[in-house]
Amino acid sequence: MKLRKKKVLLFLLAIFLLYVLWLSFNILRFKTYKAEIKESPLEIEGVYHIHTTYSDGRKSLDEIAKLASQADLDFIVLTDHGNPNHESYSSQGWKEEVLVLAGSEVSVSRGHLVALDFELPSGNFSPNTEDAFYEIKARGGFSIIAHPYSKIQWSWGKFIEYSGIEIINGDTALKKNILASLASLPALLIKPEYAFLKMFDSPHRNLRKWDELNNLYPIYGYFSLDAHLLYRPALNLLRLHLLLQSPLSEDFDTAQHQVYEALRKGRFFNSIHAAAHAHGFRFSGEEGGKTTPMGSTAMLDSPVSLSIEAPFPFAKEIHLVHNGKMILRSTEDSISYEAAHPGTYRVEVYLTERSPLGKNIPWIISNPIFLREDEK
Ligand SMILES: [Zn+2]
Ligand SMILES: [Zn+2]
Ligand SMILES: [Zn+2]
Repeated sequence: MKLRKKKVLLFLLAIFLLYVLWLSFNILRFKTYKAEIKESPLEIEGVYHIHTTYSDGRKSLDEIAKLASQADLDFIVLTDHGNPNHESYSSQGWKEEVLVLAGSEVSVSRGHLVALDFELPSGNFSPNTEDAFYEIKARGGFSIIAHPYSKIQWSWGKFIEYSGIEIINGDTALKKNILASLASLPALLIKPEYAFLKMFDSPHRNLRKWDELNNLYPIYGYFSLDAHLLYRPALNLLRLHLLLQSPLSEDFDTAQHQVYEALRKGRFFNSIHAAAHAHGFRFSGEEGGKTTPMGSTAMLDSPVSLSIEAPFPFAKEIHLVHNGKMILRSTEDSISYEAAHPGTYRVEVYLTERSPLGKNIPWIISNPIFLREDEK
């Protein structure tokens, strides 16, 4: 009897040791892929959707700004809960050489709506979604549908022109997949980026909805961190890459305008930064010497030449997506495609090097280029 108990214990110990070996091996060989690229001052990188102690975040803005600066971020966008959140709003400025902008995550009848670039209202925004949308708009702002498929879902319905929709949400992924990725959780203590990457699952439901909405009107896709804690690794997880017309100004008002302008026009792409650095990716259209930047609409008088640049030395696979359907797949660094049909064109890039990031999760998602035949 005693001997049998001992055998079971030894067996369990062996399993545990194997597991520790397996995890250590995977953590040790994990690396974030980086390209030796001369960084362009016209491409700036930031993180969108951060909570601070102004609402339910665990760290103060000062602490977060320090970490953002260490993570080499050009800007961060705070979205503290509030209606709107006045404290967060008045904390905007340059902190630790990071541009700190603050919108608010407003709880409305359809879910959570992120309001950005608005002038403070005298009272609260309405709890009714459509009313809040128009109030934000009337105060010069724009709004983004937050985490449409998290526990707090978005209820669809009335057609109004939201500026954006979150296509990946860090907080939702964490809450939803923490059990499924239990085996990788101890990595949080040693290499948290590894554990985080393991927690992402395919965003295809969000992407399908996004494509569906883009059939109605242009709406931009956001990788949203929705950080409440673990800021140091989290700030290295997801990035927005904005393409500016001129380098980011040192003057706060000008810089703020530059960032919001790029967001409003969809001149940005998203990346999962902890998997690989995406600086240098480009997607644009050209026809008769006229360039159509990402996020814009071009008239389809004659075929528009779409070009994709992915100058990365590690293995990746580029997908060109038209109205939600993949029409081109390539592993090249540079691609061009003659687009002759109207609709929404966007790009997904998958990392095919070894990575804790699932093979079905896009590492880069661009914003679309819209081609139209008629003047609507
Ligand atoms: Zn929260
Ligand atoms: Zn929320
Ligand atoms: Zn949030």
